[in-house]
Amino acid sequence: MRGFDQELREQLLEALPKHGITVHAGISPEKIEALENETRRVSLSNGEKIETDCVFFATGRKPNVDGLGLDAVGVKTEKGAIVVDAQSTSSVPNIYAIGDVTDRINLTPVAIGEGHTLAERLFSKHPPRDWSYETTPKAVFFSETLASVGLTEEEAARQADLEVFTASFRPLRQTLIGRDRKAFMKLVVERESQKVVGAHMMGEAAAELMQGVAIAVTGGLTKRDFDRTIGIHPTTAEEFVTMRSPTRQVSKTA
Ligand SMILES: Cc1cc2nc3c(=O)[nH]c(=O)nc-3n(C[C@H](O)[C@H](O)[C@H](O)COP(=O)(O)OP(=O)(O)OC[C@H]3O[C@@H](n4cnc5c(N)ncnc54)[C@H](O)[C@@H]3O)c2cc1C
Repeated sequence: MRGFDQELREQLLEALPKHGITVHAGISPEKIEALENETRRVSLSNGEKIETDCVFFATGRKPNVDGLGLDAVGVKTEKGAIVVDAQSTSSVPNIYAIGDVTDRINLTPVAIGEGHTLAERLFSKHPPRDWSYETTPKAVFFSETLASVGLTEEEAARQADLEVFTASFRPLRQTLIGRDRKAFMKLVVERESQKVVGAHMMGEAAAELMQGVAIAVTGGLTKRDFDRTIGIHPTTAEEFVTMRSPTRQVSKTA
């Protein structure tokens, strides 16, 4: 969950046991052995052993640049990724790189966006569309969906004093079906400008909902704009326009 708002990550950690998931923090798997009957035994760095039928091992990703001959033409790489400037130009002015191979934000719409922008810049008479990595929304589709747009509280606090609005509640639908599932929603607002610089959510349909909020954050709207937006009742989404008082004031960090 690296890169997500810390409070959102903590909410997820709290919610996971309700989905039957146990988190072993700060522990690494050291050995996986195949036993009889399709059983796998995982030895952990704290000496514990877990027997299970399936091990899903997330190893991460790295750019696939071996054998492309980048060195031969002088294209610089860093940790295996092609180094580019804001215009996606590599260290060789007529060689460009877009998408995961540049290891900026590794998402499909970002790769497509970078491709569009580059094509427009090189071949179109019109200026390329202007979009920002800072307001690129993202989601994790998991037992609890997480979705975010803009800055985390930690990032925003490095830039300005903040007002942080949070709401944590059981959505009406979850109450009706008798499920103990919570939604958590959060707005990060720059105190002086009242600009909403970040929105974060954990809960059902968080990704669907965040796409709309991303338009407001990309547009640089203020908390007042959120406040004067009428909610749709009864929805979880209406919480984003009904958070009246800040949960806390946060001073700019050094
Ligand atoms: C498991 C998983 C789940 C994901 N889920 C999501 C998601 O839900 N939402 C989302 O937005 N993003 C998701 N992503 C990220 C998304 O897939 C990537 O960000 C996106 O595909 C990047 O596009 P790309 O064109 O840069 O790279 P790719 O889609 O990886 O395309 C690169 C292409 O180049 C080819 N290639 C590589 N080397 C050579 C070579 N030497 N010669 C010729 N061809 C070559 C490859 O075969 C590949 O077809 C996920 C990624 C993974 C791995």
